[in-house]
Amino acid sequence: MKDNFGRNINYLRLSITDRCNLRCHYCMPATGVEPQHHEDILSYGEMLRIVAAASTLGIRKVRVTGGEPLVRKGVIGFLEQLAALEGIEEIALTTNGILLADYARALSSAGVKRLNISLDSLNPVTFKEITRGGDLMRVMDGIDKAEQVGMKIKLNMVAMHGVNDHELLDFAALSIDKPWSVRYIEYMPTIREEQWQQRIISGADILDLLNSHFQLEHLTTDHFCGPARPYRIAGAAGTLGIITPMSEHFCGSCNRIRVTSMGQAKSCLMSNEAVELRPLLGVRQQNELIDTLKKVICGKPEHHRLGTDPDSTTPFSMASIGG
Ligand code: SAM
Ligand code: SF4
Repeated sequence: MKDNFGRNINYLRLSITDRCNLRCHYCMPATGVEPQHHEDILSYGEMLRIVAAASTLGIRKVRVTGGEPLVRKGVIGFLEQLAALEGIEEIALTTNGILLADYARALSSAGVKRLNISLDSLNPVTFKEITRGGDLMRVMDGIDKAEQVGMKIKLNMVAMHGVNDHELLDFAALSIDKPWSVRYIEYMPTIREEQWQQRIISGADILDLLNSHFQLEHLTTDHFCGPARPYRIAGAAGTLGIITPMSEHFCGSCNRIRVTSMGQAKSCLMSNEAVELRPLLGVRQQNELIDTLKKVICGKPEHHRLGTDPDSTTPFSMASIGG
């Protein structure tokens, strides 16, 4: 379905939990985010009802995220049911990879063909610092297992001055031999951690650096490709992407809505607006639910202003909404 600005909305990001087994410093405070009560989190059945309603409006791709989606019990059975829903053509998952080695085969059998793995450092010490305790080897093992079962892999690296900027080229080099898509994401001041202003590296600076070391080819995007500007190092097996939510927002081509694990629909990550879907999840309320989702899509703002006016967005953790 088209929104009021003519954008074709075909992509739903669904957060299935606000809980996480890591505490990345750019995503949440050291103390973590106060977890929601279990009874406030939507059941899988409720989530399936929402996706089924959304599919009648043209949602074709669902990305399951969190928190960390693999920490929620029953996730594989849920994904199987999601993949079986009429109208849903693609299921993807975003994960920190910590539990991936255990789940890769089951995820693939459940119908997840594409994985986004968040990986901000290739150095075990830096990785542990960024994630406040994560074990890089477990993630690398998970990536291996996912490759073995034939999943398509995207690595998402949040680029940060003074944290992992010295690894930007190492990440690009991964794409030479591996058929992975390595994507650099501009740091967003979602929780306004201390000195966030100094952390941001613009997509333009990343591209300059890559161009000065590699011969880059600019690629074209496909219809589900999302916000990354895609490149390839000449002759490489994989690709590179740059995602610039801060310096050049990609709102004009944004094709997504979100639903949080608490059942709030959001047409824009950066907007403070959210619509409660929970009162509309009764068996006989499908039409009401569809009408409400229609309004959410139509009410999608033209663009956000986080890059120019951070105070236009109330601080939030991506773990609570679903990144
Ligand atoms: N736990 C899973 C993971 O880390 O992949 C899924 C949820 S996480 C909130 C989704 C994505 O949001 C991750 O790729 C993470 O790097 C990104 N993210 C969280 N906070 C961010 C921030 N302040 N700036 C940029 N990206 C952020
Ligand atoms: Fe957890 Fe993902 Fe947030 Fe890191 S980015 S704390 S892994 S939800």
